[in-house]
Amino acid sequence: MENTEEKYMRAALGQAALAYEDDEVPVGAVIVCNGRIIARAYNMTERLKDPTAHAEMQAITMATEHLGGKYLTECELYVTVEPCPMCAAALGWAQIRKVVYGAPDPKKGFTLYSPSLLHPKTSVVSGVLAEECARLMSDFFKGKR
Ligand SMILES: [Zn+2]
Repeated sequence: MENTEEKYMRAALGQAALAYEDDEVPVGAVIVCNGRIIARAYNMTERLKDPTAHAEMQAITMATEHLGGKYLTECELYVTVEPCPMCAAALGWAQIRKVVYGAPDPKKGFTLYSPSLLHPKTSVVSGVLAEECARLMSDFFKGKR
């Protein structure tokens, strides 16, 4: 049986697959509040011609709109790849309760720079379905070569 973290990571992987189909770097994210997914998003930097249109940024905007407030203190973010420093800082502003990511990003991941970008109360879980999350990325970049 799958645990809850894997279940929501599968939903994030579903979003990443949509990004892949759209020829976007395949990163997907969902935000969960009280056991319900309230935001689903994927990387849209090509489509929107916006380098800040990462999956996490889109998901934060959707979730705060849904909840009608700028804080996500009762929410959890699931993202297929480790957030970059920009997204980690945005998640810090949102004071999100928990961040769960799949594959590490050894080049741009926020933990390389400053783990304290997140809010001090935010808990972090890494490595959930990491192989699947990483495989999608490596398949994508292989196809690009
Ligand atoms: Zn980012």
